[in-house]
Amino acid sequence: ATEVRLASRPEGMPTLDHFEVVDVEVPKPGPGQVLVRNTWLSVDPYMRGRMSSAKSYVAPFEVGEVMDGGAIGEVVESNTDELAVGDVVLHGLGWRTHAVLDPARARKLDPSAAPVQAHLSVLGMPGLTAYAGLFDVANMREGDTVFVSGAAGAVGSLVGQLAKLRGAKRVIGSAGSAEKVRWLLDELGFDAAFNYKDGPVREQLRQAAPDGVDVYFDNVGGEHLEAAIGALNVHGRIAVCGMISQYNATEPTPAPRNLAQIIAKRFTMRGFLVGDHEHLRPTFLAEVSPLVRDGKIVYRETVVDGIRQAPQAFLDLLTGGNTGKMLVRL
Ligand code: NDP
Repeated sequence: ATEVRLASRPEGMPTLDHFEVVDVEVPKPGPGQVLVRNTWLSVDPYMRGRMSSAKSYVAPFEVGEVMDGGAIGEVVESNTDELAVGDVVLHGLGWRTHAVLDPARARKLDPSAAPVQAHLSVLGMPGLTAYAGLFDVANMREGDTVFVSGAAGAVGSLVGQLAKLRGAKRVIGSAGSAEKVRWLLDELGFDAAFNYKDGPVREQLRQAAPDGVDVYFDNVGGEHLEAAIGALNVHGRIAVCGMISQYNATEPTPAPRNLAQIIAKRFTMRGFLVGDHEHLRPTFLAEVSPLVRDGKIVYRETVVDGIRQAPQAFLDLLTGGNTGKMLVRL
């Protein structure tokens, strides 16, 4: 068995030296437990926060401990009636080839419904994040103009498509390469998209949204947030999902300099955590699973092979190496 541990805490952008890949004995399941052989590992931006010691909404990883996180695997040994050998489960024990679990900490998946790894992306945590943020937090309505940053990522690519399907007047996305922008326009049905590296976001957004923005789904923060505030219409809504442009910052980052517009525009800005929207999961799955099955929602995965590649996949995620969901296949 092999596992990836946090070797040390990064200051700023992490490097491969902050991880340690270690070979260990295959663990033995105790009474009432199962042994799972993992097949897919999730690579997520929030793991950057857990590499630091700062207090946040999930406890920091401990130095020398395995990088916990989303994973899918097959039960290969079972000491319980609740799960059988061959069952495919989703769990949170992360970057290891083998995991010993109590059945209560594993969710059994139906492998015939969709490729199992979809439960780490479009039908899983990122999918629910997009759905909850857009409809519950930003209260998106038919006829809204919606802007989403990080639009070619796991969450953002679904936000744009859900907005279109719910009758948005115009959907605008930003992403970090010409190829990603083409994907948004040609395959995902965005009305406008731009590469934020091509010039100031404020100017590119103004061109893409001449009539302003009603909903901004923020995955990025910083310059994007300031530009969105500038483009927001009266009674606009901002759902703050993530601020990835600041996750590696070593200095406190400036607030949006135009925040005072919140008064005249009477806009709302709300942060949220997907974990608080668990009650929406059944509605989300009932609505989105058929759309995925029928090809009305498109999703993409960037797949890296082998657990030893997980640290590099994570570094690539932080610098835009993924289109859609970043995954490691074992
Ligand atoms: P993504 O698949 O979107 O991957 C991250 C992307 O961020 C990269 O592909 C890169 O794309 C982009 N990026 C990196 N640095 C910058 C930068 N400086 N400026 C702009 N874009 C940047 O990840 P997810 O879909 O999993 O997550 C998207 C966001 O949602 C993250 O901020 C994450 O923390 C947040 N999140 C929040 C949750 C919650 O409960 N609130 C739950 C899940 C995710 P590019 O090439 O376009 O730069």
